[in-house]
Amino acid sequence: MDNCIFCKIAAGQIPSKLIHEDEDLIAFHDINPAAPVHVLIVPREHIATLADCGERHAALLGKMMLLAPKLAQQLGCGYDAEAGAGGFKSLFNTGPDGGQEVYHLHLHVIGGPRPWRGQR
Ligand code: AMP
Ligand code: ZN
Repeated sequence: MDNCIFCKIAAGQIPSKLIHEDEDLIAFHDINPAAPVHVLIVPREHIATLADCGERHAALLGKMMLLAPKLAQQLGCGYDAEAGAGGFKSLFNTGPDGGQEVYHLHLHVIGGPRPWRGQR
């Protein structure tokens, strides 16, 4: 997609603080973090919103969600069930009332010690 900031990041045309890259997904640090850890998991394919996903996107969505706890762990905000500590939010904003600003599908992974700055 022309003029889509996340397509440009995926294509390497705009710099980002990349933390993960595979054939389907990239992940990078949010430029305006709402918490100590705030990363975005983004499919390489341009899909505008979660509401635009269909059956053919089921595996991709599953892959995005399974990556979230792995990145959280890697970034020091994984959930430790034994200690009952840590953890993170995983969030899709959809449409104007959902607070979506960038119309290329992305999963926010937000965590780290509280208090957090953002309202997400
Ligand atoms: P949303 O409101 O769910 O569409 O979230 C868009 C997110 O993208 C916001 O948290 C922005 O801070 C973030 N963002 C926008 N531009 C960039 C960029 N160039 N690099 C990293 N994050 C960005
Ligand atoms: Zn895009």
